[in-house]
Amino acid sequence: MSPRPIAGHTVRKRFGQNFLTDTNVIDRIVRAIDPRPGQALVEIGPGLGAITAPLVAAAGFLDVVEIDRDLAPRIAARFGDKVCVHETDALRYDFASLAQQRGGKLRVVGNLPYNISTPLIFHLLESATHIADMHFMLQKEVVDRMGAAAGEDDYGRLSVLLQYRCRVEPLFTVPPGAFNPQPKVHSAIVRLIPQPPAQAARDEKLLGALVTQAFSQRRKTLRNALRGLLDDTGIAACGIDPGVRCETLTVAQFVQLADTAAARPAGDAHD
Ligand code: SAM
Repeated sequence: MSPRPIAGHTVRKRFGQNFLTDTNVIDRIVRAIDPRPGQALVEIGPGLGAITAPLVAAAGFLDVVEIDRDLAPRIAARFGDKVCVHETDALRYDFASLAQQRGGKLRVVGNLPYNISTPLIFHLLESATHIADMHFMLQKEVVDRMGAAAGEDDYGRLSVLLQYRCRVEPLFTVPPGAFNPQPKVHSAIVRLIPQPPAQAARDEKLLGALVTQAFSQRRKTLRNALRGLLDDTGIAACGIDPGVRCETLTVAQFVQLADTAAARPAGDAHD
């Protein structure tokens, strides 16, 4: 059954449309963002304007990126010249160019559609040097994974690759009743602050591949999980026991492993 229209808008499930209606939650989000006039604020997916309105009230001007061809003109008509509407897919949007146009680092905000949240955050991180901070509403389970530390149950690929590039601050949980239509799961607000890696990997692509391979077999020992990439000698050269499981390793240790793998000639890892 398709959801009933909300404020005259036919809800599009494919765009992950769960509109915020709880004013206390909206206030709390806006207080966490603390928008100020003159900042280059950009909201992804303004929808019916639940967060847009208080952001505009506080900051005076806002860029928004909205894919829905019915919602984009509604936002433009409601906020006039206080909002610049970019009617497009945020996954393809050039955030670095927007920052250059606005003459400063972006503060990115969004109650994100759950189906695109992870790829969208990694797309944004390609422009990390142009972003001051990001505040997102996501599935609580995803925020738990983002913020998990080595050794915790939720620690995995997402934790390592995000914490490599960002400070991750989970802020608070939001129940399904705060939205219309209600999602099936709890949500949470997270603050992400891009920062240069504490220790930069020599080859970030290789770091991504190594972390992906390690966690695709998370129950295996590191020795088995990294088969084909690094042998016992290579792992031990990093001061790491090849018999441990990958979920116990810190971000810095993954960088060390990737750097060791990068330094070894191709085909040097013995199976
Ligand atoms: N911000 C509103 C709120 O909090 O009530 C709406 C949030 S709703 C969860 C997600 C919004 O993102 C919708 O307006 C949807 O149309 C928009 N959206 C979905 N996919 C998008 C994409 N790829 N690019 C830009 N906007 C997108």
